[in-house]
Amino acid sequence: METYYVNGFFKRRNSAKISVEDRGFNFSDGVYELISYLDEKLIFFEKHYSRLSKSLLSLKISSPLSNKKILKLIIKRLIKLNKIKSGYIYIQITRGTAKRNHVYSQQIPPNLVIFCLPLRKIEKFKRGVKVRTSEDLRWGRCDVKSISLLPNILEKQIAFNQGYYETWQTKDNYITEGTTSNAFIVDRNGSIRTYPKSKHILGGVTRDVIIQIAKKKSIKIIEKAFTLNDVKYCKEAFLTSTTVKILPVIKVNDMKINTMKIGEITKILTYNINKKING
Ligand code: PMP
Repeated sequence: METYYVNGFFKRRNSAKISVEDRGFNFSDGVYELISYLDEKLIFFEKHYSRLSKSLLSLKISSPLSNKKILKLIIKRLIKLNKIKSGYIYIQITRGTAKRNHVYSQQIPPNLVIFCLPLRKIEKFKRGVKVRTSEDLRWGRCDVKSISLLPNILEKQIAFNQGYYETWQTKDNYITEGTTSNAFIVDRNGSIRTYPKSKHILGGVTRDVIIQIAKKKSIKIIEKAFTLNDVKYCKEAFLTSTTVKILPVIKVNDMKINTMKIGEITKILTYNINKKING
């Protein structure tokens, strides 16, 4: 039976409960993180913890976790209790429970829920995925990892229904990012291009790691927005996220990328991120 961590207690699934007046439930007033782990070892934990702290600060939600050591201890225990050796840790913190009112009191304690998810089967995606595009309908603070994901889930669902892996969202003709991942191309000159870190995208942990690897391998990386026209003439494309790490993108709308073969730079980055994770 799965075990969940809810506000200080380890609870079996049936007794893991949050109030109907939770502000996350009523208003999407909360933040989250998804951390992957392999053989009980957390991947890029520090980066996830730092982003979680930033998200909380941006929304002025007080942290229920006094420090990262406490969080690590809770997670380690949860992994043992769930007997899932490799998977993902989902952490959700909402502003707390109160009678429904847009205005909130600073006094209410936040709600913290943590649970484990098993590894996703992604083998078939490693040969390359197809992406569609649509207008980015999200709010102006996409850098905050908010649990408010309506535009993301709607566009991800359309992608799924139409046989695509992902939707790349466009703002003023520029591709910002996917609904669950960051977007990259390798341009005609062999430079990697991706939307700059800003309020228009989530600063992906995997994005950061891929940029670090590219720099180390002397592959030029330009954090500058690209358009669909740039995609048309690009050599390679790929996407990154905690769930999949890096996936080659072999088709964007009706445009075939690199004759639908995995590009050389994508191969180098894939090899090196796997090396980093597997130690
Ligand atoms: N952008 C969005 C909108 C996402 O939901 C995610 C997945 N959390 C990412 C990018 C990738 O971020 P990360 O590499 O930290 O998982």
